[in-house]
Amino acid sequence: MYLLVIEDDLNLGNALVKLLAKDYRVQWVRSLESAQAHFGAAEFELVLLDLGLPDGDGVTWLRALRARNCKTPVLIITARGGLDDRVAGLDTGADDYLVKPFEPEELRARIRALLRRKSGGAQPRMNVGALSFDAVLRRFFLADAPIDLAPKEYQLLATMIQSGERPVSRERLTQQLYGIGDVAESNTLEVHIHSLRKVLGKHRIVTIRGFGYRLAAL
Ligand code: CA
Repeated sequence: MYLLVIEDDLNLGNALVKLLAKDYRVQWVRSLESAQAHFGAAEFELVLLDLGLPDGDGVTWLRALRARNCKTPVLIITARGGLDDRVAGLDTGADDYLVKPFEPEELRARIRALLRRKSGGAQPRMNVGALSFDAVLRRFFLADAPIDLAPKEYQLLATMIQSGERPVSRERLTQQLYGIGDVAESNTLEVHIHSLRKVLGKHRIVTIRGFGYRLAAL
């Protein structure tokens, strides 16, 4: 997920990068000219757009973008909170509008919503009990709090949650470990299941003797 942040204010730009870099790859630019150069050179999943920029108005840039039939989601972030400004921004083709100052959590939630909408009909969120997986953000949540997992644990859990509460065989899970380029030892799967249980709680992964494992809806 690659985000373009167009914001000329140094403090806000720095804060945005710091906030978003935990979850996304972020490119920050401070002018429309620089935005245009980056936009032409890379594929972005979402743009955060300030309106008052040193070399022009963000709305003008957005209008040109939409005129070229570019559908990249754009979230306007601006101090202009008047109704006319908001309506103009949305009419020009912004997907959402956030007025400064705003709460970091609200910005993150709106970005998640836009990215989910962009993914269209794909099933973006899978749940087993309190455990959920956001396929757009490629992150797991436990009771809505994000969980950080090592790559192999992540792969295993992603395979399991796609089966819901149905058991997944040892063979299939072991293939996930081979699949990411590791030489598997005989107890490798158990080691990673053990790590997952430490993060998720012991009872969330049930051992099916002689077959494999399944998730429990707790
Ligand atoms: Ca500005």
